[in-house]
Amino acid sequence: MVRVYSGILRGLDARMLTVEVDTDPRSFGFYLVGLADHAVREGQLRIQTAIRNAGYGLPRCRHMINLAPADLRKEGAAYDLTIALGMLAEAGYLNGAALSEYLVMGELSLDGRIKGVRGILPVMELAAKQKCKGVIMPLDNAEEAALHPEILALPFEKLHDVMLFFRDGQSVIAFSKPRVDQGQQLLSSEAKSSMDWRQVKGQALAKRALRIAAFGQHNVLLMGPPGCGKTILAHSLLGLMPLLTGQEKRIQAQLQSVLSGGLEFRNPSEQIPFRKPHHTITVQAMVGGGQWPIPGEASLAHGGVLFLDELPEFRREVLEALREPLEQGYVVLNRQRSSVIYPARFVLIAAMNPCPCGYYGSTDERCTCSENIVARYQRRISGPLLDRMDLVVCMDRVKTSEWKSQTTEDEGNMPTPTRTREHLQGGLLDDQRLERSLNPACRQTLDQMVEQGGLSMRAVYRLLRVALTISEIEKAEGIRPEHLMEAYYFRHPRMLTSPSRQNRHQSPPRI
Ligand SMILES: [Zn+2]
Repeated sequence: MVRVYSGILRGLDARMLTVEVDTDPRSFGFYLVGLADHAVREGQLRIQTAIRNAGYGLPRCRHMINLAPADLRKEGAAYDLTIALGMLAEAGYLNGAALSEYLVMGELSLDGRIKGVRGILPVMELAAKQKCKGVIMPLDNAEEAALHPEILALPFEKLHDVMLFFRDGQSVIAFSKPRVDQGQQLLSSEAKSSMDWRQVKGQALAKRALRIAAFGQHNVLLMGPPGCGKTILAHSLLGLMPLLTGQEKRIQAQLQSVLSGGLEFRNPSEQIPFRKPHHTITVQAMVGGGQWPIPGEASLAHGGVLFLDELPEFRREVLEALREPLEQGYVVLNRQRSSVIYPARFVLIAAMNPCPCGYYGSTDERCTCSENIVARYQRRISGPLLDRMDLVVCMDRVKTSEWKSQTTEDEGNMPTPTRTREHLQGGLLDDQRLERSLNPACRQTLDQMVEQGGLSMRAVYRLLRVALTISEIEKAEGIRPEHLMEAYYFRHPRMLTSPSRQNRHQSPPRI
């Protein structure tokens, strides 16, 4: 009997898969057991044909193949190569003991070529943990494999090449020509075209909110009439974000690997993610899912920005599905036998008109909507989602006199704060510590806000985190009442009219 090893994808992790191959000369057939889906089971004909076309003959006997552990579902054709090499080793064409020192992954085509698979990076991570000699993989995956320098990648084009490697240790380095350059050029040209907020005149309040949002990773809602600069401002958030940490870069590469391995793989490089899904997006495309769960937009925005333009146009269930990642920083996709977790920690920036015609509350054009219609429009954003928008800015079009008095240079030269991201990711425990650390003056201010503003516990903690960010921007020693006031001001815009949110009309408490 021969054992060959591979990896089963579970989210961004890979679990060890053992393929056991045994033959029995007394009978005849091909049996595959161990909770394989039909794509794996259909593989038997493909594998036998590929072996024959690669120039090898299998003995006429019963081939028994067992995939373990039996409780994990095996999907797709990614284990073709693993099974084929196991059968060839069992037939005596290569040394089974040498083969078992590697992880093997790859799909086979009938002519014996090896096709790219999804998720090679998590499998390489597994190989590193298991102290394997290397990973035998399709040539199509060579580029992404190069991102994991600690483990030896052995990319092959054809089944026959793998056989030559085991027979004479024939070098495979010549095969692995990186195709990284093209992808990186594409990305850097995209980066150049990103928008800058100096293109928007005035709007000091919105710019202040973006500064705070980028510094402390808070969510922003920009509300205002068409043409007031919401979209450009939202894009400019990208330029203010702190650089990705090493861990975030690794996660981005793994997400890309799981989503589109092989030839379609695009190296995410140094770029901070900026995702702007259209409002027709489905829940599955937003948070991930599917028969073989793949990550969604929320995960692809991990470490960066998720921009939802025309927020009320998104389906309600799509917005509701975002509550989990907004609170936890990850998405859990539940499946029959197991659940899959994808990281999804991002800054949410949303933009919307205040009403269907777009001019509610505007000073230079009349709104044609009735109060009822405006209220219904704004109610499309549920209370819990609105609770998670830390900074809400109501914008108006800028008057000529306003922007003439403002020099754009000042804004551009504001120092960009840099900070480590570790302490941003604190949970409830840190929030409670933050609350206890307030001085008596702040305590009193906060109590008044809770009383007058009807803040939920979640809202209080989120408000405190914004106040902490403001105090850090101002380089103050801890939170001061004015930081709380500013944070409160951004939570309570006066333009939201919905009767169910009466208290949002109120101005900040006077102290
Ligand atoms: Zn209107």
